[in-house]
Amino acid sequence: ELEEMLDAVAHATKVMSKNKVGALMVFERATGLAERIETGVPIDGLVSSGLLQNIFVKDTPLHDGAVVIRGNRVVAACCLLPLTENRNLSQELGTRHRAAIGMSEQSDAMILVVSEETGTISIARNGELMRYLTVDDVKEILRTAIFRPHAAVKNSLVDKIKSLWGGEKK
Ligand code: ATP
Ligand code: MG
Repeated sequence: ELEEMLDAVAHATKVMSKNKVGALMVFERATGLAERIETGVPIDGLVSSGLLQNIFVKDTPLHDGAVVIRGNRVVAACCLLPLTENRNLSQELGTRHRAAIGMSEQSDAMILVVSEETGTISIARNGELMRYLTVDDVKEILRTAIFRPHAAVKNSLVDKIKSLWGGEKK
């Protein structure tokens, strides 16, 4: 399911980058983002390339701000993120990128940005911005951050359940 989510995100990112459609996507991890979600519009929809592309169409009601993605669901759109106060950033970076960096300073979330001005793809993490990414980079970075920890949690849960059962159970 998460691999399908990554494919959808990668495809939407590729199309929006090519067409220079600005986008901002927050991938929730351990830090809960309820406060941010409350600033936006609830969606609760399965992540698909079409849904993401549609949300970010310029001059439509939901395009402004960020979407928050939890697992394979778009929780909300139009979310307001905290701007970074870092003064050492490149002047090229406007508020969309500064909001991504700010969110990454205040949580363990990964934030994907597509620039409307240049089509460049970036990911903010831990207060840093990885810029000029390819779609393959995006998949790899998000997979490492989201998919593997999930798999680890899943496996540990499976082990726990097995031990509760006292062995394999069908
Ligand atoms: P781009 O490269 O796409 O032009 P940028 O970094 O130059 O991005 P702006 O041009 O200032 O940034 O982008 C403005 C858009 O960024 C807004 O229309 C809005 O969608 C989004 N944005 C700005 N501030 C925030 C914020 N605090 N939280 C969420 N989204 C924001
Ligand atoms: Mg700009």
